[in-house]
Amino acid sequence: MDRRSFLRGLGLAAVGLGACGTALARSVERRLLSFVHTHTGERLTTVYFEGGQYVGNALRRVNELLRDFRTDTVYPIDPGVLDRLFDLQAAAGGSEAFQVICGYRSPTTNAALRKASSGVAEHSLHLEGRAIDVRLPGVETARLARMARQQASGGVGYYQVSDFVHLDTGSVRIWGDPIRV
Ligand SMILES: [Zn+2]
Repeated sequence: MDRRSFLRGLGLAAVGLGACGTALARSVERRLLSFVHTHTGERLTTVYFEGGQYVGNALRRVNELLRDFRTDTVYPIDPGVLDRLFDLQAAAGGSEAFQVICGYRSPTTNAALRKASSGVAEHSLHLEGRAIDVRLPGVETARLARMARQQASGGVGYYQVSDFVHLDTGSVRIWGDPIRV
């Protein structure tokens, strides 16, 4: 199915349910995500929501994958981050795994990264398990960022040179490079 007919299908389904695209994605009872971590090479495909609730075992595996790999610190990831990814994949189409650049970030790592780069926030939501940096193979990262901004359900940062989108469950904010797609 090409992108246009995919979108048209979504539109028709949304009319049928009387819901917008995001609500449509959220209404799906079974939410599956696939990840590959770019630093550790670890992969995970898991159904993290089913039967009207989040799946504890799946969340634990996600927490492990999204740990601060530099300090090996595992921290609970806000399931809202996963819903953001799920909604984004529903909008973008495709079934490729999200490539994870960064999930949880410990205070130690954040301080070290802040010394090395001016682009790292002191009170980053990565420190609270409420942010993730990703790209999605098969979808131009600028387009992914644009779709994330259109969903307007949290923070979205676009980093063109590093080729990733930052998503978080904080208030609706946008920053980063201009999007030219
Ligand atoms: Zn980030």
